[in-house]
Amino acid sequence: MEKIKLGISTCLLGENVRFDGGHKLDRYLTDTLGQYVEYVPVCPEVECGFGIPRESFRLVGDRENPRLVTSRSNQDHTDRMGQWAKKRVAELEKEDLCGYIFKSGSPSSGMERVKVYDPNGVPAKVGVGLFARIFMEHFPLLPVEDEGRLHDPILRENFIERIFALKRWRDVLKEKESLKNFIDFHTRNKLLVLAHSPEHYRQMGKLVAGGKKFPLPELFSRYQSLLLESLRLKATNKKNGNVLMHMLGYFKDRLSGNEKQEMLEIIDQHRLGYLPLIVPVTLMKHYVGKYDEPYLKEQTYLRPHPAELQLRNHV
Ligand code: SF4
Repeated sequence: MEKIKLGISTCLLGENVRFDGGHKLDRYLTDTLGQYVEYVPVCPEVECGFGIPRESFRLVGDRENPRLVTSRSNQDHTDRMGQWAKKRVAELEKEDLCGYIFKSGSPSSGMERVKVYDPNGVPAKVGVGLFARIFMEHFPLLPVEDEGRLHDPILRENFIERIFALKRWRDVLKEKESLKNFIDFHTRNKLLVLAHSPEHYRQMGKLVAGGKKFPLPELFSRYQSLLLESLRLKATNKKNGNVLMHMLGYFKDRLSGNEKQEMLEIIDQHRLGYLPLIVPVTLMKHYVGKYDEPYLKEQTYLRPHPAELQLRNHV
């Protein structure tokens, strides 16, 4: 698989672009995730023409629509940054990004809970950085996270699952536009979607079944929206348990009494939160291989991302 393209706040890569000439290197992003990802760095403040070092910025005023001003001299750069950001996100269209990792807390790059100061200088963590807001408005369904939230194992897993799924989908779009390639993709990713949203699973199944009604570009666009919406929803222990039970249904008659009992117990212990997902999934993979179940063998649910990333191992 060629590398996944992700936008990223430049300072997270260790570049000295911060207002004080420093950086915010995140080793997980560079050394671990970086093995699978090609980063497209963006530093709004430097690229918009503010130097290094520079006076720091902050958001002030209306919480929904704050102004970007310099912290000490109170110069308002909202319009300048806003105009630059609109041009930059239009350029990023060409990059075929599968996601974006923002720097938390930044008045330019933070995606949530950025401090907005009221007229008395009292901050509330309710804002969105100016560039991040324009980016997310432009790409509303693209997977986005910040480096702080990515320390949470559930959010990390969800984000990484989404960027890998989107990359697989983008690869299908690059192939010859055909209903067959599209249906193959849907078939392989069905159980992954089901683990996130049974409702989207139904809607996507209906869309695929009636696919001939639409011109392919419209069909693909509708499908992509549903895919990205579905994967945004959390795959809970209960939903994963249901998917695993569904999988078990494919070959339960071929398992011995002991094998079945062990599988059921492990699924149940995962549902109750005693075992990480990797345990029932590994056992399921073993049986899928042993009994050579062709439909399940192709399911991305069993291998949504490389094992080296050590995901699905938290309780
Ligand atoms: S947080 Fe954003 S604007 Fe600030 S240094 Fe990092 S990339 Fe640049």
